[in-house]
Amino acid sequence: MTIFQKILDREIPADIVYEDDMVCAFRDIQPQAPVHILVIPKKPIVKIGDMDEEDRNLVGHLMHRATRIAADENLTDYRLVINNGEGAGQSVFHLHLHILGGRPFAWPPG
Ligand code: AMP
Repeated sequence: MTIFQKILDREIPADIVYEDDMVCAFRDIQPQAPVHILVIPKKPIVKIGDMDEEDRNLVGHLMHRATRIAADENLTDYRLVINNGEGAGQSVFHLHLHILGGRPFAWPPG
């Protein structure tokens, strides 16, 4: 079981900023920007590359909620990041979308 499943199950605490029947959003424990929030589906999809056609609505909702959470955080400029696989920096194997904001970001990313 991943740490994010434990957050969903309320087995470990998290600073939850949004939740509905499909997704949950909470602040990253090791923030990489003044605002760093993770949005996860309640369905335990391991990584974005594993999403099925039937998950399109869920992933669309995840993305849409992320934009609303960013607006609630008063962010106009922000970055949404999904790391897919270890080589891309994924360390928790339950799909999550990072919302990063509150500072400038470089491109290309590291
Ligand atoms: P990734 O490297 O894309 O898989 O991102 C995983 C993120 O989860 C990292 O930014 C971690 O800081 C964050 N993280 C790990 N454990 C927790 C936790 N218990 N609560 C909140 N965020 C966490």
